[in-house]
Amino acid sequence: MDNLNLYEVLGVAPDASDEEIKKNYRKLAKEFHPDKNPDAGDKFKEISFAYEVLSDPEKRRIYDRYGLKGLQEGADGFSDASEFFAQWFPFERVSTGGRGRREGKVVIKVELTLEEIYIGGMKKKLEYKRQKLCSKCNGDGGPKEARESCEACGGAGRAAAFTFMGLSPFDATCPACDGRGFTIKEDKKCSPCQGSGFVEQKMKRDLVVERGAPHMLKVPFTNEGHQMRGGEYGDLIVIIAQKEHTLFQRRHANLYMQDLEINITEALCGYKHCFKHLDGRNVCLRTNPGEVLQNNQIKMVRGSGMPVFNKATESGDLYMKFKVKFPDNDFATAPQLAMLEGLLPPRPQVVIPKNAEEVQMTDYKPQPRQHEEDDGQSPHFEGVQCQTA
Ligand SMILES: [Zn+2]
Ligand SMILES: [Zn+2]
Repeated sequence: MDNLNLYEVLGVAPDASDEEIKKNYRKLAKEFHPDKNPDAGDKFKEISFAYEVLSDPEKRRIYDRYGLKGLQEGADGFSDASEFFAQWFPFERVSTGGRGRREGKVVIKVELTLEEIYIGGMKKKLEYKRQKLCSKCNGDGGPKEARESCEACGGAGRAAAFTFMGLSPFDATCPACDGRGFTIKEDKKCSPCQGSGFVEQKMKRDLVVERGAPHMLKVPFTNEGHQMRGGEYGDLIVIIAQKEHTLFQRRHANLYMQDLEINITEALCGYKHCFKHLDGRNVCLRTNPGEVLQNNQIKMVRGSGMPVFNKATESGDLYMKFKVKFPDNDFATAPQLAMLEGLLPPRPQVVIPKNAEEVQMTDYKPQPRQHEEDDGQSPHFEGVQCQTA
């Protein structure tokens, strides 16, 4: 499906203006309309589909960046994906029921820091645009006597029963007339709404951040979305997206501090470390006297994670993983090393057999090799990468 280039379908360049896209769509929709061109059903649906995507700034942006897949899978918070595709692919409509735009849904995404989600309770100002019926023409788009049958759908309001790229017949609202079956004569169009019956309204609302809100949480605002032809309003859906944090990673209500680097003295002789938690309070970690921290050891602090969403009194846990950094070569003199050895566990006694061959070890640096046969049975060290192509 990704092979379909929507710009080619409409015969425009990828940087075409909205005006060019509209012009070409009108021309092609007329030419390939099934009434005039009954053998071109597929073509007409492709044209309508291409126009619906490219005439909508949000869909066009997602298509430009991620292709059709992005629209289908809902890239970048485009959460109308299933409803949008349901209009074009009936097998999806069965599972999702509704139709995005016809439901008047407005979806906006708000990015929050982990700190904001941890603390909760603050207000975020939301600004967005929605469509509402034009008050000048009561949503008619112009006088009744200026209506003319929609060229694209022949007045049916629907583009019905075509097969599309091998998929079964569908039934979609005509995007040119928004399903009304008529358009308004160019010179009689109501000026505020350009004949569409809808004008844009700027909206401001406050979102109160809930403590512990999960990433991609959908918060609905009833009746704050688009107004529909019948006068009723759809919902505003605010998607909360959590920004990445430099110190903590989050999974559900747990927090993780990865790869906390400590030196060998800290690992052996005692470790203390202080950091600012997400609410700004200082938290200090400390090993018990005599406690040794191993490389890759994981420790936890119970209850120091994120607040659990919708459970005010509960919190997740905080996990940390230690990386022990050994000193560089020649960090101590020979007599110092002898003293150190006196403190450390003894080395194993090694007896060198007679006539033994002593070999030199060199540092290993991964680098591409020209030819290497991998029979799948040679041993591999972790981190030693197999470089065969
Ligand atoms: Zn109007
Ligand atoms: Zn139409």
